[in-house]
Parts: sequence; C-alpha cells; structure tokens
Amino acid sequence: MNSEKLPSYLSKLQEIRNNLLGDVKKTFQTSQEETLEPQADIADGAAQAYTNELMTSLGEQDWQKLKQVDEALEKINRGDYGICSTCSKPIPEARLDVMPFAKFCVECMSEHENQAENQIDSSEEEDSEENS
Ligand SMILES: [Zn+2]
Repeated sequence: MNSEKLPSYLSKLQEIRNNLLGDVKKTFQTSQEETLEPQADIADGAAQAYTNELMTSLGEQDWQKLKQVDEALEKINRGDYGICSTCSKPIPEARLDVMPFAKFCVECMSEHENQAENQIDSSEEEDSEENS
C-alpha cells in the first residue's frame, strides 16, 4: 500500500461515515439529552441502546456498511489497511478507490458474498428466545 494515498482513503472513509451517521446522530443526540441521568452504571446500557438505535435507524444495509467503514478505519490505525482479511494479499488500489472500505480482494469478496446471505439468516435467529 502506497502510504501517501492513505490520507485520501482516510478522508473518504470519514466522509462515508459522516454521511451514514449524519441524520441519525442528530436525532439520537436530541432524545438522549432528555433522558440522560447521572448514573455510574448506565454506560453499558447506554452504549447498547445507542447501538440498537443506530441499527434501527440505519437499516441492515447501511449498518453493515458502517461496520465495514469502522473496520477499515481501525485497519488504518493498525497499519494493515488495504490487505485482504482472508488471504492477506494487497487489495488493488483501483478497488479501494471505488470502495475504500473493502476488506477483501476481488476473489475473496465474491466467495464471501456467496456465504453472506446464509450468515445474515442465522444471525437474525439469535433474537428469538425459545426456552422450550
Ligand atoms: Zn483475498
């Protein structure tokens, strides 16, 4: 990865993130101010509520995208941005230009997309509480 290009990917990622969060954040911060109470143990619950709120407001597709953007930003911090998460080969810059939050190379992405549909189905089943 050409490190000189990192800042441009970083700003692209932050722009995508801001676009995704923009309206949601404003709405949530307004309602949060009304209900915020000075309790020491509220942190975990508040974080969870915030996550749930974001998921609901963004919808499944944008939520997945936001997570990918966050992972890409973490990778930039760790210094392994632009490396395929599966095969550890460099992701072509042409691909990162189009999709700066890509975490797989083209080959691994097409394999991953085939499996993704099954994964989404199974993760949604975790919500049902059946103790029969
Ligand atoms: Zn790969």
